Amino acid sequence: MRYVSTRGQAPILTFEEAMLTGLARDGGLYVPETVPGMSPADIAGLAGLSYEDAAFRVMKPFVGDAFTDADLQGIIARAYQGFDHPARAPLTQLGPNHFLLELFHGPTLAFKDFAMQLIGQLFQTALERSGKRVTIVGATSGDTGSAAIEAFRGLDNVDVFILFPEGRVSEVQRRQMTTPSEANVHALALKGDFDDCQARVKDMFNHFEFRDAVGLSAVNSINWARVLAQVVYYFTSAVSLGAPHRSVAFTVPTGNFGDIFAGQIARRMGLPIERLVIATNQNDILHRALSGGAYETKGVTPSISPSMDIQVSSNFERALFDAYGRDGSAVAQLMGELKDKGGFSISQGALECLRETYASGRASEEETTATIRATHAATGETLCPHSAVGVKVAQDQPATATPMITLATAHPAKFPDAVEDATGQRPPLPSRMADLYERPERVTAVENDLAALEALIEERRKR
Ligand SMILES: *Cc1c(COP(=O)(O)O)cnc(C)c1O
Repeated sequence: MRYVSTRGQAPILTFEEAMLTGLARDGGLYVPETVPGMSPADIAGLAGLSYEDAAFRVMKPFVGDAFTDADLQGIIARAYQGFDHPARAPLTQLGPNHFLLELFHGPTLAFKDFAMQLIGQLFQTALERSGKRVTIVGATSGDTGSAAIEAFRGLDNVDVFILFPEGRVSEVQRRQMTTPSEANVHALALKGDFDDCQARVKDMFNHFEFRDAVGLSAVNSINWARVLAQVVYYFTSAVSLGAPHRSVAFTVPTGNFGDIFAGQIARRMGLPIERLVIATNQNDILHRALSGGAYETKGVTPSISPSMDIQVSSNFERALFDAYGRDGSAVAQLMGELKDKGGFSISQGALECLRETYASGRASEEETTATIRATHAATGETLCPHSAVGVKVAQDQPATATPMITLATAHPAKFPDAVEDATGQRPPLPSRMADLYERPERVTAVENDLAALEALIEERRKR
């Protein structure tokens, strides 16, 4: 399996190379040259398998011969052994035809663990056999960073530096990043917002001298291996509800577009997904773009669902690449306009293609809180604010006979203030992390300045 860049100018890579590189050298994102299909019989064959066995079957064609079957099976087994639910991604029911896919049973209580735990094990195996070291630099609105640190802490061949916007992540998120004591973990609180963090990471990747000197690697949601890991639970949940014999719909709380793009990959592989709904909070660039055709940044307004507080949605570039008929130069031009003018308009043909692929909706702050409250009262289920955005947008969709699955992206205890505001009850942390508030923190405050950041990374990383 070969991987090409969405901007058409970077070298074509193997799975392992694309995974270790992250961002392509032309500024684009790697995507598979072709999407392997699963026949209805292949999909039916996933019924009754463990999550791990299903993951192997779904991911293997994308991995190709980068890892032996036995290695890949071992990697998957180690990735998900720390999850505290035997199904890994269990489904619960919210209403007559509405299901919740609980993706928060991993070590940091958010769906990012599905991808990050796998990536940690993939990196470990690949770097051990090559004897190389890498420096992972990531930007986070909260959950990616904690998941990355949890996945890479203590691994031999990796230093991990995570930039988060100071004061804009929840206390649980911050503590998950600042309390690990391993020397290869570096939590950096940046004076700025998430888009600043993301922009500095992109700058470092575009600074080839620095990039090559430190062996820079990205595990942000732009990393193809992360998208791939997330494809699996679309299959397992749909099969639980009767796929391939029955179609399903998904609503996905969306920020950087990685999770929902994984759903589109599942659909292209053959999973019968009738509707794929983007759910945004008040930072609704994606909903506005699909509604009106203009992708225009307007600054981030902090919300109670902070992991979706973004204005530039990096993986959307992958959707644009498909909508523009995989024309890398067209995508490069749009991204140039985005950088220079803060936005671009989507061509009529591409917009029609996007609208055929994705529906979209938005939930305000008030609607999010009301949904947490109403769902709790009606079902006893406590939603985190991100999941509540999804549930609200799903409820606004026209009712059909097709079951709707909303992705529950984080555990409510990760966002206890928003949940307490809505329900009057403070959701407790699972017992395995009950002492999080007592552990000592370790964090470095940094300015929003590329040169200073690069100097810090040069100095801190292990050689
Ligand atoms: C990251 C995150 C999202 C958004 O996912 P994307 O892949 O960036 O669209 C939603 N909810 C939670 C809890 C998250 O951590």
